[in-house]
Amino acid sequence: MEPQRSPLLEVKGNIELKRALAKAPSRLPLPGSRLKRGPDQMEEDLEPEKKRTRGLGTKVATSHPRATALTTVPQTQGQTAVPKVPRKTGPRCSAAIATVLKNQKPGPAVPAQKPGTTAAPPVVGRKKPSKRPAWDLKGQLCDLNAELKCCRERTQMLDQENQQLRNQLREAQQQATALVTERRTLEEELARMRAQAEQGQQELGNLSARVVALEERMTIPEGLVQELQKEQLELQEERRGLAAQLEEQERRLQASEAALSGSQAEVASLRQEAAAQADLLAKREERLHGLEMERRRLHNQLQELKGNVRVFCRVRPVLPGESTPPPGFLLFPSGPSGPSDPPTRLSLSRSDERRGTLSGAPAAPTRHDFSFDRVFPPGSRQDEVFEEISMLVQSALDGYPVCIFAYGQTGSGKTFTMEGGPGGDPQVEGLIPRALRHLFSVAQELSGQGWTYSFVASYVEIYNETVRDLLATGTRKGHGGECEIRRAGPGSEELTVTNARYVPVSCEREVEALLHLARQNRAVARTAQNERSSRSHSVFQLQISGEHAGRGLQCAAPLSLVDLAGSERLDPGLALGPGERERLRETQAINSSLSTLGLVIMALSNKESHVPYRNSKLTYLLQNSLGGSAKMLMFVNISPLEENVSESLNSLRFASKVNQCVIGTAQANRK
Ligand code: ADP
Ligand code: MG
Repeated sequence: MEPQRSPLLEVKGNIELKRALAKAPSRLPLPGSRLKRGPDQMEEDLEPEKKRTRGLGTKVATSHPRATALTTVPQTQGQTAVPKVPRKTGPRCSAAIATVLKNQKPGPAVPAQKPGTTAAPPVVGRKKPSKRPAWDLKGQLCDLNAELKCCRERTQMLDQENQQLRNQLREAQQQATALVTERRTLEEELARMRAQAEQGQQELGNLSARVVALEERMTIPEGLVQELQKEQLELQEERRGLAAQLEEQERRLQASEAALSGSQAEVASLRQEAAAQADLLAKREERLHGLEMERRRLHNQLQELKGNVRVFCRVRPVLPGESTPPPGFLLFPSGPSGPSDPPTRLSLSRSDERRGTLSGAPAAPTRHDFSFDRVFPPGSRQDEVFEEISMLVQSALDGYPVCIFAYGQTGSGKTFTMEGGPGGDPQVEGLIPRALRHLFSVAQELSGQGWTYSFVASYVEIYNETVRDLLATGTRKGHGGECEIRRAGPGSEELTVTNARYVPVSCEREVEALLHLARQNRAVARTAQNERSSRSHSVFQLQISGEHAGRGLQCAAPLSLVDLAGSERLDPGLALGPGERERLRETQAINSSLSTLGLVIMALSNKESHVPYRNSKLTYLLQNSLGGSAKMLMFVNISPLEENVSESLNSLRFASKVNQCVIGTAQANRK
């Protein structure tokens, strides 16, 4: 099978043929040109055909001259060979062209013979007649006629053939015209195809460029794809891990659920138990409350049995630089149960120089014995002292007014007992900070039983019957304006000091800050008036309020801690200069207020109808802490020095009087 040719090649073939055809007309004899040629020439033209006809024998019939001519066209006569017959031209056209071409290049020229020459013309299909003698003109004429006739026939035949050729030529021309048209069409087509090809090339170029660009772009996505694949692998790994985790979690969940159901059952039983316990707790709370109330009652009874007015004697140690008293000057005899008993007695020996014996020998010292609720010898520590009064602090929380005094001459240790020693050493902390710490801690414990406590502190000094605020701040600091003691309201039992600060406190630090402020205020005052602090009474008061919201119970009571002014008497032998006169006035004021305090205690003890509270600012301010239900404790501070024996005796006598007092039966201030 012949391979299928591309349309382009086919077109090219056509074009080549057309080119050959285009050249051909220039070589074609003009129509009718053969008529101009002589009979010889025609004979010459005819001759080869004859020869060929003869060579081919009878197979070539005269009725198909054109077919004969076509088949006998030599391919080797320098003619341009037609490589392929175009389909459109057809075999007839090719034959015509072949004939024309053949006629164009005749064989070797034969010189024309002049008529009448002896050369006899070839006779076709006849035997050459024998040469007639010259004289046989007739015979010659006859021959000539015969030849003429033959020629005529041949002419006629040639004319016919000529006509045929003309027809063929016309046909060929028409075909050529058609071919030219076709060629143009094909050329146009070619041009179009070329344009298309160019366009295709361009498109191909563009596509190649795009391919390159896409390939370039592909490199990035490839990297990305690799990365994504890697990531996918990682994610798959992670997923596997998570699935494993999930499984583990599910397993745990199941275990947890099992545990939970177990726990729920346990919870249910625990709830039952809790309900039972809550019931029990409520009963116990009820019982506890009953016990607490019972405790308060018994505590109070105990305090009453101990005495609502108690006196403790405290002897300070001999300070460095002071002369040691003679042995036996102060004695602390043991109690009935021996030395294990806390001391309650004190003996002071005084040698009266004025009393001499007749022999002139010094008289034996007079021994003065005193008995108090408790006696603290010089070595007693602050915490031992506080332990004895902590029960009273508890009473204050239970709703009983409590008042603690420190009485004694200047330098006997009153301030040391109430506020503490210098330097802020916790070992030497006084009663005020210890009492407040104890209050805060007990209030905290009682909050578990439903009690809520609040504390409000005030700190004033009474100097020369004037009241000043020791908690004054700002411009009033150290120069606190005069304060007045007033009733909180008409018909109210409660007293309040005008212009004084009442500061709510809830912790030790706040109390420390207040004591520090009071010390500062005293220090400023001291520079203004010499040693005023020892010439004035310092009154620290704490209003305690408790509430049991659940039971609608309330209690309120003041706790007063008083550092009294020096109880020493003015030496009557001293010359009265201007300074001494002032000092005398101070002393008189102090003595007056201290004796009023004694009188008030006596009146209360004797249950007198009139209690002279108003006789001094001190008793007036403290009246709510001294009356009926109040509990009072007086520290009598004694100097261990022999030189202070007179003042010590005075103090001890005053304290003994107080100690003999029994003030009513205390009633808790319940509302
Ligand atoms: P008052 O207030 O009665 O005037 P102070 O409390 O100021 O007396 O005491 C006078 C001095 O004695 C102070 O230096 C104080 O530190 C010291 N003092 C008082 N009592 C004691 C004691 N129990 N232990 C040690 N030193 C004390
Ligand atoms: Mg003092």
